[in-house]
Amino acid sequence: MVTGRLRSSGCRASKAWAKALVMEMILCLLLTGRGQSQEKPAADFVKAENERYELYAPSEKDLKPAGEEVEYAYQTFLKYFGEAPPKIAVVVFPSPEKMRAYDFSSFRERGLRYLPWVTRDYLAGGATNVRSFSELGLVLSGAGPDGGVRVLTVLPIGMAERDEFHSGDVIRFIDGAPVESLAHFAERYQALPVGAKVKMEVERDGQKRAVGFSKPNPQGAPQSLVQLGGSGEGQRRRDARPLSHEAGHIFFSAYVDRKLGRKSPAESKQTGGDQYGHPQIPDWLDEAVATLCEFPALQKARLLYLHGALDAHIPLGEFFTMEHPVLKSQEELVRQAREQMLAEGRTSTMITISGGPEIAGEQARMFYAEALSLAQFLADREGPAFLAQVADALMHGKKMKDVLAGAKSIPTKISDLEKAWLESVKANHP
Ligand SMILES: [Zn+2]
Repeated sequence: MVTGRLRSSGCRASKAWAKALVMEMILCLLLTGRGQSQEKPAADFVKAENERYELYAPSEKDLKPAGEEVEYAYQTFLKYFGEAPPKIAVVVFPSPEKMRAYDFSSFRERGLRYLPWVTRDYLAGGATNVRSFSELGLVLSGAGPDGGVRVLTVLPIGMAERDEFHSGDVIRFIDGAPVESLAHFAERYQALPVGAKVKMEVERDGQKRAVGFSKPNPQGAPQSLVQLGGSGEGQRRRDARPLSHEAGHIFFSAYVDRKLGRKSPAESKQTGGDQYGHPQIPDWLDEAVATLCEFPALQKARLLYLHGALDAHIPLGEFFTMEHPVLKSQEELVRQAREQMLAEGRTSTMITISGGPEIAGEQARMFYAEALSLAQFLADREGPAFLAQVADALMHGKKMKDVLAGAKSIPTKISDLEKAWLESVKANHP
């Protein structure tokens, strides 16, 4: 707490920072289907293992920071739940393509909950800007001082001709004009009418070739999957250390499976796959546990947002039963990706959703902030073990109002709880 005057000026500065900070993080949805398994990838990983996790990464340099984040999530989970969660696996990939091509079945067979992730370098997007062209199905970045744009990622959905592109290709010319930068490329591309013939010269391993296609309609294309663009944003994204959040989800899911006497990994509610959230747990509690596992800088950004937008908070009666707003907004995307996966005869695919309110709306931003704030409030008033009690009751089908009836210090009615929580938010400036 600081004085009023300092507070208002401090608040402005931190709010700008909080807004810039990625709020929704990267959300990897692994869609899995039935059928034969994909080929096993080459064993090009280094590995770290202890009783808490198995961790795979492309290099030692990627292993260490990832290990710190997973460890942080583990310790936080232990603090709140009072018991160690089951061991999990985390596989860090240099890019989403590698992730999509990976066969996770060995983890499933071993009953190990696993988290596919990407390196910090990928998160940071390098030194250049990165931009997603969803209708093309390409994520592009600036290629450097010699011009051109580099294909970072070929997305699982987008125009059919995206197959002509590979990650690492450099687009040198668009409609006969040399590509100077990502901004220049975007300008030339956007100036073309929908349906116009787009001609590109693409370089791969020193070989140049022409690629042509009709410009697809961006309207109706799924919302941008990856938005890493903007100078400095990648840096902030990386520095937010979002792996601790996602590891929190996985530890929690594994814990719930064990409590319910089920073999991990259970089917997840939104995707029918193995990722994100537990089907027996309401979305708010999944996010509450994950946000508790975040590092303090990111939590502070969330709480600042909540403090500044408290009038727009989601009423608790609704909050306790609502569907995750990010997933809801990406329903169409998930549906299309699944169709594509089945059409290609693949057994799994990975979509990476990242970005802030521009993707999922303010409600999603509030959902995360509220989940964190409420979890902290409950743990603060009732003791850290209360969250384990809440989880235990909810996973066995109880309603939140029944859970509250057994509380000792907080109001037992949802409307009164809401008042007490709001009071506490107002009284405690982050
Ligand atoms: Zn989450």
